[in-house]
Amino acid sequence: MIKNILKKNGKTKTFCHSCQENHYVSLIQKENNVIAKILCPDGDKEIIVSNDAEIFKLMRQKVEYEEIFTPPENHKFFLNQLYITDACNCSCPICYVAQDKKESFFMSVEEAVSRAKAAKQRKAKNVMLIGGEPTIHPKLIEIIKALRQLKMKIFVFTNGLELGKNINLAYQLKKAGVYTIGLQFDSLDRTTLKKMRGTDSLDLKLKAIKNIQEANLRFGLICTVASYNENEIDDLIKWALNLHSLPNFFAFQVLAETGRFPDNAKEEITREKIIRKVISSKCLPGAKIDNFWPIPFYQPLGLFAHPDCVANLLVIRKNNKLIFFDDIINLSGLFKDMRNTKLKYFSKFAVPVMIYLFLKNTKLKNWTKIFNYFLTFQNPGKKNNQMVVGAGGYVSKDFEDYQRISRCGGAILTKKGSISLCRYFNRGCRISC
Ligand code: SF4
Ligand SMILES: [Zn+2]
Repeated sequence: MIKNILKKNGKTKTFCHSCQENHYVSLIQKENNVIAKILCPDGDKEIIVSNDAEIFKLMRQKVEYEEIFTPPENHKFFLNQLYITDACNCSCPICYVAQDKKESFFMSVEEAVSRAKAAKQRKAKNVMLIGGEPTIHPKLIEIIKALRQLKMKIFVFTNGLELGKNINLAYQLKKAGVYTIGLQFDSLDRTTLKKMRGTDSLDLKLKAIKNIQEANLRFGLICTVASYNENEIDDLIKWALNLHSLPNFFAFQVLAETGRFPDNAKEEITREKIIRKVISSKCLPGAKIDNFWPIPFYQPLGLFAHPDCVANLLVIRKNNKLIFFDDIINLSGLFKDMRNTKLKYFSKFAVPVMIYLFLKNTKLKNWTKIFNYFLTFQNPGKKNNQMVVGAGGYVSKDFEDYQRISRCGGAILTKKGSISLCRYFNRGCRISC
């Protein structure tokens, strides 16, 4: 059975690496697969976009996605990544940077500030310092302090090796004003870790979590999902739910097809497969596929991320029981209200109106759950009881969906300004770009 997925038999476009030009693409469903049919003059090509059409379509429906190419002028990226170095203290077989030059690059404080300022003009509120390994940048603390002067929230994405060895680094980051640490955490299995990261770094990563918590830093975990660890997602979530203080997020991201990307490392792993595994494994007792939500559209804050980008589920832990965010808020109504608001881009009423819409869509009959939610909210930095489980994947190298790229949620801050994260990876850009 073949069905067209795009509305009104619409088409999207992609860049073709063999012809070096753009072609039209239709998105079709064959059985439970979503397939991009690329209309190339050298012969049509079919690329599997998702192996789970049911979840793929559900996420699009949830935000009533309209098929348009060009983002609104003020499209805001909600993740703004800044590569401050390509140097690293690790040599992962799946590294997306795969630095092979003799000389490493370390961004100057001035350059970091200038790129962050440009992003701020596009209303960016955060900067994520990434690498390579940002914690080995000799001027990391100076960069953080300088970016804090711009009143931006600073995230540091790290493999955790330095933080595991040195608690003082955690205290220094806290003092410099870091908002959140994103810690690479792919597996609890030492053999898997060796395959993915070239070394068994489990003890150091666990120590890094201890040190981060000791320094009272907010943190989240990032798991790159590849064929090596796809069957460990449930164990990772169960383990995280048993931590005394929950990570603020546990993001499961399909391996990017870039850098030292081994050909067989990503077979058939998609965002939808991750969601299906989380639900079918019952690692989050009571959770349903419907508890996952894409990023809502909200014009007043410039939020227009594409629904294929990332899907999240917010879980609240209370007395060993789990509450899901849509137990207390009617998210379907909230998303609709956010989408239909008449407020202008970046209106000064954006946040108050959002709070009003939240309250309007609160499920008051579940008042005990609401009460518990606010109780868990009270002590951030001490014992956290809320965690966002995220599932995401980049666009495929062979199908760089223009509709999706034009609404990318993540950006890389380059010399020429903010560019889509997916495009940056696909076009083989490098840190010096
Ligand atoms: S993936 Fe990250 S930690 Fe691993 S070598 Fe590359 S930059 Fe370093
Ligand atoms: Zn072509």
